[in-house]
Amino acid sequence: MALIVQKYGGTSVGTVERIQAVADKVIETKKQGHQVVVVVSAMSGETDRLLSLANNITQTPTPRELDVLLSTGEQATIALLSMALEEKGQAAVSYTGGQVHIRTDNEHNKARIVDIDGARVHKQLNDGKIVVIAGFQGVDEDGNITTLGRGGSDTTAVAMAAALKADECRIYTDVDGVYTADPRVVEDAQRLVSITYEEMLEMASLGSKVLQIRSVEFARKYNVNLRVLSSFKDGPGTLITDEDENMEAALISGIAHNKDEAKLTIVGVPDNPGIASKILGPIADANIEVDMIVQNVGVDNSTDFTFTVNRTDYDRALSILQKTAKSIKAKDVSGDNKIVKISVVGVGMRSHAGIASTMFKALADEGINIQMISTSEIKVSVVVAEKYLELGVRTLHTTFGLENGAITESNK
Ligand code: ASP
Ligand code: MG
Repeated sequence: MALIVQKYGGTSVGTVERIQAVADKVIETKKQGHQVVVVVSAMSGETDRLLSLANNITQTPTPRELDVLLSTGEQATIALLSMALEEKGQAAVSYTGGQVHIRTDNEHNKARIVDIDGARVHKQLNDGKIVVIAGFQGVDEDGNITTLGRGGSDTTAVAMAAALKADECRIYTDVDGVYTADPRVVEDAQRLVSITYEEMLEMASLGSKVLQIRSVEFARKYNVNLRVLSSFKDGPGTLITDEDENMEAALISGIAHNKDEAKLTIVGVPDNPGIASKILGPIADANIEVDMIVQNVGVDNSTDFTFTVNRTDYDRALSILQKTAKSIKAKDVSGDNKIVKISVVGVGMRSHAGIASTMFKALADEGINIQMISTSEIKVSVVVAEKYLELGVRTLHTTFGLENGAITESNK
């Protein structure tokens, strides 16, 4: 007998019929002899609907009241799913985050889980019940309702699995796993059988938006076996886990891309100590995240400094940079928000420097100009013009032979 946490997202519980289908899947797992805890999201579109109701009253709702409102979406789903289970003859009990002591800090709208008391859940499971828990919500020290940020039900599920010491946390969604590239871009992208936490973090942060990033960080920290699978068709999905001896480390697991970036350049900056912090300080003060940074000293001893930000922060970053340029007497400021980042990801590349040169040659052969490069232990990323997104991702997918699945030492 295993303890399984299952999480169903908004689309999977989007209608009454779908909630009934989820109930069947849950009962099936229970009949296999397992204990089952289910975490659910709000029905699809519900969180957005609640948000727009609030925005019809005020553009700046009090964060506390917004959480009281948004948490009702999940509260409706837990009740409906529990009813569906009972109607099918399976004893079930629903709980809000607060009722199972999902304690968070008091950062409303983006709270972090600090503690969960699994005792109540274990008791109900031992009584043979299915426990249905509202995702995305918790309570702070003073009992105020908090929410965990959009997509936060994934994190509730993983945190619950960690607290209950579950054997596996299964995230049921509208895709049937993690792919070697976005299947909308690369037709013959392959589902990965397994992937490490680290790789998944890179893939997720690079735009393969299958899971909330924080849930993967949580899973890594507490060593929770996490599986992504489809709620609409049967299949093993993709297991996200630790890199261990049984799992042959992939040289290359996939090609990720991110369309949410924009780049900014300040040219002709005097090359003095402290310049980088003068440029990025005001950007950081405005709470703008910087991703890649490239600095280069030219022949005349002046520096060109380029960095990327999220596309939604582009206009703000540009106007801040223009002010900075005046104060540090830089020659010019330019920017481009029609760029994309494409990355080759794989834990096995740590010892394989050749990956980068293979990547650059493949892009050059297609006439794709590389504007920026960055590397980490398990990825090589390039920034290219947005119009090359499809061509670039497809070219690299073929170059690294990913139509046959992840590349490992044995199938290289
Ligand atoms: N209902 C919340 C959202 O739409 C949380 C979730 O679905 O994970 O973001
Ligand atoms: Mg979701």
